This record gives sequence, structure tokens and C-alpha cells, in this order.
Amino acid sequence: MRVDFLIIGQGLAGTTLAWRLLQRGRSVLIVDRESGHSSSRIAAGLITPATGKRIAKSWRWADLFPHAVAFYRSRESELGDRFFHQRPALRLFIDAQEQAEYQRRSGGLLLGLVEPATDINAEWYDAPLGGFSMPDAARLDVPRYLDACRTYFRARDVYRTADLSPHDLELTATGVRVPALSIEAQTVVFCRGFDAGTDPWFGSIKFNAAKGEILTVRVPGLAENRVIHRGIWLAPIGDEVFRVGATYTWEPLDSHPTAEGRAEIESRLRAFLRLPFEVLDHHAAVRPVIDAGLPVLGRHPEYPQLAYFNGLGSKGSLLAPFFADQFAAHLCGTGEIDPEVNVRKALHRL
Ligand SMILES: Cc1cc2nc3c(=O)[nH]c(=O)nc-3n(C[C@H](O)[C@H](O)[C@H](O)COP(=O)(O)OP(=O)(O)OC[C@H]3O[C@@H](n4cnc5c(N)ncnc54)[C@H](O)[C@@H]3O)c2cc1C
Repeated sequence: MRVDFLIIGQGLAGTTLAWRLLQRGRSVLIVDRESGHSSSRIAAGLITPATGKRIAKSWRWADLFPHAVAFYRSRESELGDRFFHQRPALRLFIDAQEQAEYQRRSGGLLLGLVEPATDINAEWYDAPLGGFSMPDAARLDVPRYLDACRTYFRARDVYRTADLSPHDLELTATGVRVPALSIEAQTVVFCRGFDAGTDPWFGSIKFNAAKGEILTVRVPGLAENRVIHRGIWLAPIGDEVFRVGATYTWEPLDSHPTAEGRAEIESRLRAFLRLPFEVLDHHAAVRPVIDAGLPVLGRHPEYPQLAYFNGLGSKGSLLAPFFADQFAAHLCGTGEIDPEVNVRKALHRL
């Protein structure tokens, strides 16, 4: 069997790139080892125009957000499923500094993207300083999106379960042979997330990865349908059940939930939620952050039959559709990659 593209990894990066290549009429095979602890399987999928303590405007928001909305909506139509929820998000001020930061930015860079919040339920939230609303916000139910795509791909023989190591790949003059799958691909694309140092071609790219822990909680009486941000976030998933998180830690980089992580999230939730809650579940994974947190994509400069799409960091849901489109165009010979995200930059930085 011959394919144009073999994609290793069916997380947000690999899945979204597969669609963009299929839409361009290319043949694709996507494989995943289905370990269950990948970043995409744990992610909350939140998308907001303003983020962080400094209430900074999200990088390239005006390009990325419309792209993400159009892409996920079109996948919902194609797959007959619902996994992209566009809904305003509410951010509560932690302190006077945040409030002042908001005042400074709301009339400038964030004009049209934020507005004062008028509907903060005082029986639910302890928010003496108030907050602001972000009308253009969304939540991608990432596991549901990935499962729906996997079912669709599998039915069309575009997906297989496999754990491929670099030893399984034999580079030839015209592509890559993969005896374990009995296939030959013109190009193999590595979409493996945080899996540092395990391939001889891109394995030396330096990650600045961050482990994140996340809880699932039940909050009886909390009829909230917006995502609430206050240092951490509280995201409704239905029937008084919410995801809440996430922590950022850098040692050790594994997917084990910890007692410290759980205690931190619980205490930060109690800092603003007046209602009692019960913890139902607890997960952890590693965000594939590379260097400054920008995506990294492109063909290998010496082995053009190998390509890389990674570095989606903590914003994979927003970044994946735009950059998968840009990358697919490039891989098909009809477009350029922005220099700031080109894999050459990450490789030259070594
Ligand atoms: C706690 C937490 C909260 C987050 N919250 C958000 C959020 O609110 N919003 C947001 O946009 N982003 C969020 N993120 C970040 C987001 O999850 C990532 O940006 C995104 O999931 C990265 O996707 P990826 O496909 O690059 O990597 P991954 O999801 O890690 O996917 C890589 C895939 O490759 C497969 N793989 C690896 N090696 C092999 C191999 N050798 N053979 C076969 N398969 C292989 C793995 O099984 C995996 O499925 C969060 C992440 C975490 C951990």
C-alpha cells in the first residue's frame, strides 16, 4: 500500500492535519498507540481572547479564532456530532491589580473582545471586585472530537492502532518504508506531542513542557453554563458536573495525578465558589510546549520525506485548525510556512 502521508499521532495536531490533507485530495494513513494519557485526551479545550494574569490578547486571535470556528463547525456537520460549544466566558478579578490591568486594556487591544460583567451570581461566587465577560469564547470537547474523527477515519481505512518507533521507519530516496504496517509513504509527519528525545531527526528540539492536572467535580445547585475563570477555570460539561483546573508544574513530567495537584485546585476553587463540591475524577498530562509556546511545523531540512507538527502548548484547540491548514498547503506545494513557526527555527536553535 502507498500513501501520500503517514501521520504518527492522532491528537489535536495529527487529527486536524489529516482533515486538511484529505480536503486537498491526498491519501493519508494516521496511526496512534492509544495510550490514553495524551495531552489532547485530558485537555479542557478552552478558547478565550484574553488570557493570563496580564489579561493579554491571545496571539493572532483575529486570524485564529474565525478559522477555528469555521473548521470545527464544518467537522460537526460532516460527522453529525456536537463537540464545539461557542458561549461567552466570565472572568472574575482576583485582585485590584488584575482589575486595573483590565481597565487599561479593555479600551485598547481588547476593544470589542471584552465587556464588563453584569451577571455574577453572588450566591454562587465570591467576587467582590467583579469581573468581565468575553462574548467570543468557546470550548472544544476534545476527546469527543477525536473519537468522532477516529470512528470516521477507521471506517474509511484511514486510521490504524499502532505504536511506531523510529526503528520502524526506513528512509528511501522517494519516501519512507514502514514494514510493520506494510506501507510506503511519500512523507511521514510526526504529530507525537510531548515525547521528547525519542527520534533521531526531530528528537533534539527542546521542549519547555508543563504538566497539568485537572479535576472533574459535581457542584449541586450550580446551574452555570459559562466557563468561569479566576486563576483557574471551571468549565460546565452538563448535569451539574464541571471540569476544573489546571495546574502548571515542570518536575516530574509524567501523567500521574498528585495529592498536591488536587489540593491546589480544590483550594483555588474554594477561593471563589461558595457552593460545596464533590471530586469525581482526577487526571494529568503534559502540555507539549516548545520554547516560547508557538507551534512548530515543517519538513526536515535534510530529510524532506519527514515532517513535524507539534508545540501546540496550552492552546491546541485554537491553534490547530489555522496551522494545520497552513501546513497542509505547504506539504501539498501551494503555500509557505510563517518563519516564526517553521521547524527550521527550532532545529537551528539547538
Ligand atoms: C491539563 C491540561 C489542560 C489543557 N487545557 C487546554 C485548554 O483549555 N485549551 C487548549 O486549547 N489546550 C489545552 N491543553 C493543551 C492541549 O491539550 C494541547 O495543545 C494539545 O492536546 C496537543 O495536541 P498534540 O496532538 O500535539 O499532542 P498529543 O495530544 O500529546 O497527541 C500526540 C499523540 O501521538 C500519539 N503518539 C505519540 N508517539 C507515538 C508513537 N510512537 N506511535 C503512535 N502514536 C504515538 C499519542 O498516543 C497521542 O495520541 C491542555 C493540556 C493539559 C495537559
